[in-house]
Parts: sequence; C-alpha cells; structure tokens
Amino acid sequence: MDELTTLKKENEELKKHNAVKSDLISISAHQLRTSLSALKWILKMLLDKDLGALSLEQESFIKKASDSNERMITLVNDMLTLNHSEDSALTFNFKPTDILSLIEETLFEFSGESHKKQIETIFLKPDHQLSQVVCDREMIRVVLQNLVENAIKYSNTGDKVFITLRDENGAIILSVRDTGIGISKEEQPKIFDKFFRAKNATAKEIIGSGLGLFTTQNIVNHHGGKIWFESNEDAGSTFFVSLPLTK
Ligand code: ADP
Repeated sequence: MDELTTLKKENEELKKHNAVKSDLISISAHQLRTSLSALKWILKMLLDKDLGALSLEQESFIKKASDSNERMITLVNDMLTLNHSEDSALTFNFKPTDILSLIEETLFEFSGESHKKQIETIFLKPDHQLSQVVCDREMIRVVLQNLVENAIKYSNTGDKVFITLRDENGAIILSVRDTGIGISKEEQPKIFDKFFRAKNATAKEIIGSGLGLFTTQNIVNHHGGKIWFESNEDAGSTFFVSLPLTK
C-alpha cells in the first residue's frame, strides 16, 4: 500500500471515530436536556407556589437549585450547538444570504431579553443595498445570536447595544457594541478559548458556559472570515466579524 492510500484509510477511520464521538455527545446532551427541562418546570411550579406556600428558607434553596439548573441547561445547549457546528463544518450549506434580514430576525428574537434589562438594541443599517453574502444562514444565525446575547448579557441595565453592517473590499463587516462590563486587558488573549470565562463575568454570576465565542470563531473561520474585538474593562466591548462576500 502506498503512503497516500494509507493516509486516506487512516483519515476514513478518524472520520468514523469522530462521527461516533459526536453522536455520543449529541445523544447524551439531548437526554440531559430533557431531564433538566423536566426539573426546570417542577422548580418553577414550586417557586410560583403552585404546589403550596413556601417558607423563606425553602424558597431561597429552591431558587438556588433553579439557578444552578439554568446554568446546566445553558451548558448543554452550548455543547449541542458546538457539536453541531463542528459536525456539519464539512457540509455547511453555503448560499447567497441577506445578512440584514438575519440581523433583524436575531434582534427580534432577543427583544424579550433586552426588554427585561431595559436595553435598547439599535441597528444602524447601511444607507445602500448590500450584496448578499455566500454563507450558511443557520450557522451565521448562531454567530449573531452569540454576539447579541453576550452584548445584552454583559451590559448594565438601561444600556444601549449598537449593531452595524457595512461592506468593504469584498467583505461585509458586522459590529456589535455594548457599554457593559468589558474585558480586562490580561484576559483578552484567552477570550476565544473553550470554556474560558472572565473573572468579572463569573463574579457577577452572569450565566454562561464559555463555549459561545469558541463556537462563533469556529463558524467564522469555516467561512474564511475573521472575528476580533476591542474592549475596556467597565467601559464596554465591540465585537467585529468580517465575512467574504463570495466563498
Ligand atoms: P459565555 O457563555 O460565558 O457568555 P462566551 O464564549 O460567549 O461564553 O464568552 C466567553 C467569555 O467572554 C464570557 O464568559 C465573558 O467573560 C466574556 N465576554 C464575551 N462577550 C462579552 C461582552 N460583550 N462583554 C464582556 N465580556 C464578554
């Protein structure tokens, strides 16, 4: 057998192992999510006093259980998204896509969250028609969801979040800016690492898994794009994504 045939065979084997591993992750995560969701509703019924009055102490313990359950649901959901994005990286469905409408859909999806925190999300639309981008619409939706969700999550109540879109040298550039907690200079190099969460985020007990930006970067890279950010602690962050117009 020549070297090329051996390599091809090894590659096939690796692909098979990878498929088994990712199926396993996806099956366990789905089962976990089902159990956690059942627990979520039971805890909610208890907290809503549907099952009778609670002492203050009981209520405070159930609230802690409910928060911790929420954290696990976030982690499992993020694991599923990451697994899905890595899994389907080879089969991304690249099609000409209107990013502007995708941004509007995403902002609408988060209108409940932003309303709860009294955050205004402002989309500064380009003043001319932008070309369509050849991308996987559902995967770019995940990118937008992660960036908008973070901007809202790490903002302070009453803040504003600005989203811009422009085209430049055969690429479109998206930015999501907040005036929230920001990221310290020391922690900035680690921000795209798997499971990394900055100290100010965990100190404020903001729920997260540290998988969102890792997944986002993977998706952007598979599109031949770039992701970067500028941030100052306690002043806010701006995340940028550039995507080439053609694949
Ligand atoms: P998480 O689920 O924790 O939000 P991400 O991977 O999306 O995970 O982000 C990783 C970490 O980067 C976050 O935990 C937070 O510390 C920091 N981070 C991300 N976006 C922002 C932002 N807009 N403002 C401040 N910190 C951010």
